[in-house]
Amino acid sequence: MNEAMVMTWLNYYECPRCEYIWEDQWDCQVDDDCPACGCRHISPYESKDIEVVNKNNCLQSLSQSNFLDDDEKMADFEILTKEEFLTSYSYLTEQEYDNTKREVEDD
Ligand SMILES: [Zn+2]
Repeated sequence: MNEAMVMTWLNYYECPRCEYIWEDQWDCQVDDDCPACGCRHISPYESKDIEVVNKNNCLQSLSQSNFLDDDEKMADFEILTKEEFLTSYSYLTEQEYDNTKREVEDD
């Protein structure tokens, strides 16, 4: 698994209107709205930088990658079975093969 660790901020907020306290994760130190009373633009009174596993981005980049613009691979793609193809291009993932197949069938 390629799980990228990313830095993000854990921000702590306290609402000046209703004194509700909450925390939220953002990729920067941003103002938030009070989830209890809707008071807007509350600045965090404390922020910690934390590392989280960025699963979403990994899935995103995997789900979009294909080899449609690679003529050599596409030539083999036409003549090989999925198993043969993945064996001869061992660095490619099944996900990439499926992405490419889906794109080809869409056209
Ligand atoms: Zn509030």
